[in-house]
Amino acid sequence: MSLSEFQLVRPRTLRDALGSLTEHAGNIRVLAGGTDLLPSMRQKLFEPEHILDLRRIEGLKEIRETEHGIEIGALTTLHEIEHSQVLRQQYPVLVEAAKTVASPLIRHMGTIGGNICLDTRCLWYNQSLAWRKSCGFCIKKDGNLCHVAPGGTKCWAAFSGDTPPALLCLNAAIEIASASVTRRILLRDFYTGEGDNYRRLQPGELVTRIILPHSSSGYRGAYRKLRVRGSIDYPLAGVAVAVKRSNGRIEDIQIGLTAVNPAPVLVEGLKVLLGDGGVDERAAEHAAELAARTAKPLTTSALTPEYRREIIRVFTKRALLATIES
Ligand SMILES: Cc1cc2nc3c(=O)[nH]c(=O)nc-3n(C[C@H](O)[C@H](O)[C@H](O)COP(=O)(O)OP(=O)(O)OC[C@H]3O[C@@H](n4cnc5c(N)ncnc54)[C@H](O)[C@@H]3O)c2cc1C
Ligand code: SF4
Repeated sequence: MSLSEFQLVRPRTLRDALGSLTEHAGNIRVLAGGTDLLPSMRQKLFEPEHILDLRRIEGLKEIRETEHGIEIGALTTLHEIEHSQVLRQQYPVLVEAAKTVASPLIRHMGTIGGNICLDTRCLWYNQSLAWRKSCGFCIKKDGNLCHVAPGGTKCWAAFSGDTPPALLCLNAAIEIASASVTRRILLRDFYTGEGDNYRRLQPGELVTRIILPHSSSGYRGAYRKLRVRGSIDYPLAGVAVAVKRSNGRIEDIQIGLTAVNPAPVLVEGLKVLLGDGGVDERAAEHAAELAARTAKPLTTSALTPEYRREIIRVFTKRALLATIES
């Protein structure tokens, strides 16, 4: 599968990058590490006339402390996140999730911005052009029917990035820049829940930074992931757990899910677990039940929806108990 022809734009500054995005709006794709974009382009899922390569922009590669918390540049690689002392000490659940992405080589190239902006995935979509054509295409690309939920008009492709559920648990915000304005939103407001139009990003916009607030520092955490090949694979179900304790009391529990809905999501209703008593096996089972109900896996991947939902239950209980005991 070859790449179609395109013009490569390689700006050295954010300002130039945003200028090019505006100039070619609608016919340009952003390339960060390229670890997801380039395989997708070979499958002809995207055929832009221009590619905006961000990798020369130095200012977006750092992890730094600010008055708001820790800011991570969108071009920071997953390898750098995995090996950051400050993140390991203050936001361990993010490091745990980053460590599981793909393989060491891909983590050296793949960025946190690319992981957040990752396209949604489906068995009927992540295929070659010839394969998709033989099935009559689908709503997400070139067609008008959904093979997963025939009769409906919605795309259910699953969001399958590993770090966003951890970032949701940490109440992360993102900075989005365009040529005219820079804005900050909570990551939880970035995703639409629609598989084909999965993120709220306008054509001239880039994700430039991720902000981890001071208030989320010190949460203990764990990440558990189901995948076909343990050495290198996207999640087919993933659970991030973050717990805040103070003076032996559990002050907050956050659980984020990935790969079982068109967006990464937080589990709601966990406040009943808070208090002096700690979390015993029964309470962990209650949290696991809430997580399993939040997960809405469909036949978008190689493993059955029933199995993936059950794994969400099992992983939630295990990850929560492991975090409480750590
Ligand atoms: C074999 C293989 C296994 C993989 N396994 C996993 C896995 O286990 N878990 C996982 O999460 N991912 C996995 N991936 C996907 C990918 O490697 C990671 O998600 C990585 O973090 C993507 O980052 P990138 O910088 O390479 O993104 P790119 O490929 O450069 O971009 C991905 C998407 O985000 C957009 N984008 C990138 N940066 C920005 C930005 N700053 N602003 C706006 N849009 C942007 C691009 O236009 C593109 O649509 C795998 C990929 C491969 C090839
Ligand atoms: S969920 Fe349906 S519309 Fe979306 S990619 Fe899969 S088959 Fe296509």
